[in-house]
Amino acid sequence: MKLQRELLAEDEPLPFAIEHESGASLFFLTCDHGGRRLPRKLGDLGLPQAEFERHIAWDIGAAAVTSHLADALDAFAIRQIYSRLVIDANRDPSVESSIVTLSELTEIPGNLRLSEAQRAARVREILMPYHDRIVAELDRRQAAGRPTVLIAMHSFTPVFKGIARPWQIGVLYNRDPRFAHALKALLEAEGDLTVGDNEPYEVGDLTDYTIPVHGERRGIPHVEIEIRQDLIADSAGQRAWADRLARLLPEAWRRLAAAAA
Ligand SMILES: [Zn+2]
Repeated sequence: MKLQRELLAEDEPLPFAIEHESGASLFFLTCDHGGRRLPRKLGDLGLPQAEFERHIAWDIGAAAVTSHLADALDAFAIRQIYSRLVIDANRDPSVESSIVTLSELTEIPGNLRLSEAQRAARVREILMPYHDRIVAELDRRQAAGRPTVLIAMHSFTPVFKGIARPWQIGVLYNRDPRFAHALKALLEAEGDLTVGDNEPYEVGDLTDYTIPVHGERRGIPHVEIEIRQDLIADSAGQRAWADRLARLLPEAWRRLAAAAA
């Protein structure tokens, strides 16, 4: 059956990009906010082009760090390629902030007064194909008995609503802090980092989707990682952070496995 597309044109890509599809690593990387494409039908959402350079459109640097990390670990990585301004890939679609009308201090004209059909098309064509692909892959690994650790990669703006943030990196979690805290201990042992513990955000059912749904409900180890955007704005920073995480993530897993044994 051919899926009727109302939002995406026939020549526009599916909403996810995958790297290392057959990667051997137990780590499984997601990048919910790594894209800033817009479906042509939405035009520019009524925003000046400069807004699409900003963090409100995407997680600056996160896609490149995820890509380098996937290379270093030989890990499956999936990235949402459409902008979070179309629909937030890390929100339950029933939550108000799923399609933002105000992001930080910027109003999004193209998101005002959407019809139910317009909302439903964004959910059906942008949000769900991305999460369905994650589910399919995690199901496949589970069926094969492969251990999996979900790593949700994000980046945060150094200054939010005028307040400067002190952390270089944060580990985020909600119901299961185990992997996050194993990683946090290793990051702190590096000696040069101020590590956020559920900072600058915490994971919750209303503010997140990927960790609650694919990590917690499935019962697999997980962490959401937030890296400050000024540190990963260029390729040297992106590589340095990917290298650091490629070194620390397997060690965090070893410690967690040893503690459970
Ligand atoms: Zn994000």
